[in-house]
Amino acid sequence: YVDFNQKIDYVFKVVLIGDSAVGKSQLLARFARNEFSVDSKATIGVEFQTKTLVIDQKTVKAQIWDTAGQERYRAVTSAYYRGAVGAMLVYDMTKRQTFEHMARWLEELRGHADKNTVIMLVANKCDLSSLRAVPVEDAKEFAERENLFFMETSALDSTNVDTAFLRVLTEIYRTFS
Ligand code: GDP
Ligand code: MG
Repeated sequence: YVDFNQKIDYVFKVVLIGDSAVGKSQLLARFARNEFSVDSKATIGVEFQTKTLVIDQKTVKAQIWDTAGQERYRAVTSAYYRGAVGAMLVYDMTKRQTFEHMARWLEELRGHADKNTVIMLVANKCDLSSLRAVPVEDAKEFAERENLFFMETSALDSTNVDTAFLRVLTEIYRTFS
């Protein structure tokens, strides 16, 4: 429950990164507006959405940034990362290559972001787990080695979407407040 007349205590910028078509925009739509679309267009132009929530009796505005289809050209600019205190590294659990690319995304993120940035590895599309191409052990091993939180989500059926964002935001709150 959020009282919209209440002052905002914190604004936390969180960036979504990962290959094209892994579901970044749909995760954001699910979290910010509880929406999902099957035929989502590639995102045009840098944009973010906000959601205000209460953590530890403080009003926190999450400002979640979504890549502008730049992921195809590996051209995400430093402005995108600037000021980010959290990041969701998203891959599609049915596409091995999107997981293989996580190391590269992580390196790029770490080159731009604050060293205390809270990072979560997100295996999206877990509703398609019969098509799984990345064993959960592989993901957990990578996450542990790189010191990342890890969660499997589905923007389609909502599994763990709120939980994942809330986990990241709570951890940011602990780290940066
Ligand atoms: P982005 O390029 O990373 O922003 O990916 P999008 O959010 O545009 O999603 C790409 C495609 O995957 C779209 O057709 C979505 O409907 C679909 N998609 C996204 N999330 C999920 C999910 O959790 N489950 C399934 N089955 N499809 C998804
Ligand atoms: Mg997108």
